[in-house]
Amino acid sequence: MAQPRVARLIKAERLGPEARLLTFTLAEGEIGFAGGQYIIVNTGIELAGGKLAKRAYSILSSDGDQREFQIAVRRVGEGPGSNFMHRIEVGAELTFSGPWGKFVSNGESAGPRLVFATDTGITAALGLLQGLGSRPLADATNAVWCVESDDYFLPPSFVRSVLSGRYQNIGVAAAREVGDATRVGSALAMLERSLESILPSTAFLAGDGAVIYPLRDRLVSAGMQKENIHLEAFFNNPERKVQP
Ligand SMILES: Cc1cc2nc3c(=O)[nH]c(=O)nc-3n(C[C@H](O)[C@H](O)[C@H](O)COP(=O)(O)OP(=O)(O)OC[C@H]3O[C@@H](n4cnc5c(N)ncnc54)[C@H](O)[C@@H]3O)c2cc1C
Repeated sequence: MAQPRVARLIKAERLGPEARLLTFTLAEGEIGFAGGQYIIVNTGIELAGGKLAKRAYSILSSDGDQREFQIAVRRVGEGPGSNFMHRIEVGAELTFSGPWGKFVSNGESAGPRLVFATDTGITAALGLLQGLGSRPLADATNAVWCVESDDYFLPPSFVRSVLSGRYQNIGVAAAREVGDATRVGSALAMLERSLESILPSTAFLAGDGAVIYPLRDRLVSAGMQKENIHLEAFFNNPERKVQP
């Protein structure tokens, strides 16, 4: 069983109608994460059936700092996890496990790299892109974020300012809302256009599972090796039988 860990909230900023950026510091030691990984927060809230609500949140700050880390949370309706993360007060302790996940750069060859995020998946992309392991690949990276509006989550200006200086190729593209039937088709059309000029040697796809899995399949049919495509589905994960 994962060892519970504790961090303290030292800063909270509202970055949009549904977006809260949280900065935590560890009670002791270092977190030991690589850019792109996530933690699992134990909210302590008991769900119907007696299970505790535990939710995954990607660390968006750079793994160059292992004592403080940042998480951004979009409020999802009345959901227990996201509302807990919007309520938690500065000074409070957060219980979590991790870091977890394989959405990390691990010494890939310096070929072209695609980083594609939808919706809240931008947090995993930010953590990955800011990670020390990604730095040598900055010039070879084409990053795209599909999001339904500037108010949906983190403002695009925030995302660009976090990455500015290191990444030139950051595209923010308008997407229809989650669940819209045209979402997959427009993401595939976007991918098709970029495949006309370049086949990535590595790809990192994060966010809506209903979108990123078809993109993965298209990249494989275009000639990419499946093991060079990293997926992090935040929701609509086709590999999860039971969604939270
Ligand atoms: C690896 C990983 C990393 C994640 N990182 C982040 C992060 O950095 N920031 C963040 O805000 N969320 C992140 N999430 C989503 C997060 O774990 C929760 O699913 C989310 O906060 C909703 O939890 P809830 O308890 O409020 O609502 P629930 O009642 O659990 O959620 C209701 C439903 O909404 C779905 N859902 C979750 N997010 C969205 C969304 N954006 N749009 C539409 N439906 C959604 C859930 O899968 C669920 O089916 C991540 C998920 C995973 C698996």
